[in-house]
Amino acid sequence: MTKTFALPTSSRQQVLDITDEVAEIVGDNDVSSALCTVSVPHCTCAVYINEHEEGLVHDVMALVEGIVAGEDWHHDRIDQNAGAHLRATLLGNSVQIPVEGGNLVLGTWQRIQLIELDGPRHRRVNVTLIGG
Ligand code: ZN
Repeated sequence: MTKTFALPTSSRQQVLDITDEVAEIVGDNDVSSALCTVSVPHCTCAVYINEHEEGLVHDVMALVEGIVAGEDWHHDRIDQNAGAHLRATLLGNSVQIPVEGGNLVLGTWQRIQLIELDGPRHRRVNVTLIGG
C-alpha cells in the first residue's frame, strides 16, 4: 500500500520535518509489524533521518551546499540546477523505518526530514507499507 501526501516548499533550500505526516498515515492503516518506506518521486529533493534541531538543520544545509559547489557541471547548460540533482543523488530519495504496533520505530531524537534542494516547488511524499 502506498499513500501520497503533498508538501509545498517555500525556499530554494529548506529542511522540513515530515515525521508527523508519515506517522499519521501509518497509524491510519492498522499495521502491527511492517516496514515503512518514505520516498520522494523527484530528482532535486531528498529524504533523510536525523535530529531536527535548528542548529543542526543549518549545519546540514551548509554541508550539502558545499558538497558540489564551484564546478562547471554539464547539466547546468540545460537548466541551471545540476547542484540540486547531485546533492539529491548523494543524499538519496528514500528512507526505511520499521513499524511495530502501528507506530514508527524511531530513536528518541530521530525525525524524518525532506530536504528541498531546488525550491520552491510542490513536492509529493510516498509512504509505502510492506507487511501487516
Ligand atoms: Zn535539472
